[in-house]
Amino acid sequence: MSEKRQVVVSGMRPTGRLHIGHLHGALANWVRLQEENDCYFFSADWHALTTNYHDPGVIKQAEREMFVDFIAAGVDPLKSTLFVQSEVKEHAELFLLLGMITPLGWLERSPTYKEMRENITDRDLALYGFLGYPVLMTADVAMYKATRVPVGVDQVPHLELSREIVRKFTHHYGPVFPEPQPLLTASPKILGTDGRKMSKSYGNTIDIGESAESTTKKIMGMVTDPARKRRQDPGNPDVCGIFYLHKVTSGADTVAWVDQNCRTAGIGCVDCKKKLLEKLLPEQEQMRERREALLARPGDVDALVQLGTQKARKVAARTMDEVRTAMKLKLA
Ligand code: SF4
Repeated sequence: MSEKRQVVVSGMRPTGRLHIGHLHGALANWVRLQEENDCYFFSADWHALTTNYHDPGVIKQAEREMFVDFIAAGVDPLKSTLFVQSEVKEHAELFLLLGMITPLGWLERSPTYKEMRENITDRDLALYGFLGYPVLMTADVAMYKATRVPVGVDQVPHLELSREIVRKFTHHYGPVFPEPQPLLTASPKILGTDGRKMSKSYGNTIDIGESAESTTKKIMGMVTDPARKRRQDPGNPDVCGIFYLHKVTSGADTVAWVDQNCRTAGIGCVDCKKKLLEKLLPEQEQMRERREALLARPGDVDALVQLGTQKARKVAARTMDEVRTAMKLKLA
């Protein structure tokens, strides 16, 4: 018997073109999940404001590109609900109401809050909006009565905070929301061209659907095992970004072939990279074609997102009606 359909909610901050780290870290999983669940995937534009408040103009520009990348990667707007967070104003209302019962200490202890305050030093993050973003995140998932939220191991404490807020709501006002359970997703390690984590801020990304010429240039110039100086030196694939790309792109036989021949110097890095391109380039080409077709008809992409946003609004209106009733905020 098949498992009950779950409600899955996940969002992404619109920060511009997505790269193959996003593809294998989140989107490939969304594509699988949409087949058997009710999925809501949204542009977390208000979340983007918590750290990008100084330059809000770029958020809307990045948003369409992001939706184009979602669809090019295989997220189907007819199976999944794609929407824009700020276009469903109920998120702000629920954020406010949940804020009334969320202890300050829970937010101050959030590991991401502490980590980002320490790491982002070029702007002031001692802000109410930034501190409160886990409350907004809770509102985002609770609004659709999410039962599952795809997270990596490092995001489990975040979701636990949301679950605590939901429990507190239930304690005060009764059961409106299910407690969202983490859907642990193995997030494959994807390194950038310089051997660090693939990230736009490092300038080391390979974008989804990047041209064959540019993808080839980046792969051929990519840092490999730094200890493998000459062709005859055995390598260590476990420290090499090319090997991690093989793992998500090439078949199991090729991965085993690389693993063995790298360690025994049976192949050189150039051979290894060419082997990767045999699979990576057609994949990139397919996504590039989809992106171009979508970008040629931007009105269609906008219409699909509007359709999803309308659906999200309807669900959100129903939920907020229940919330107001539970909290006795409506006249009898
Ligand atoms: S042979 Fe392949 S896996 Fe080994 S170091 Fe070179 S590029 Fe990396």
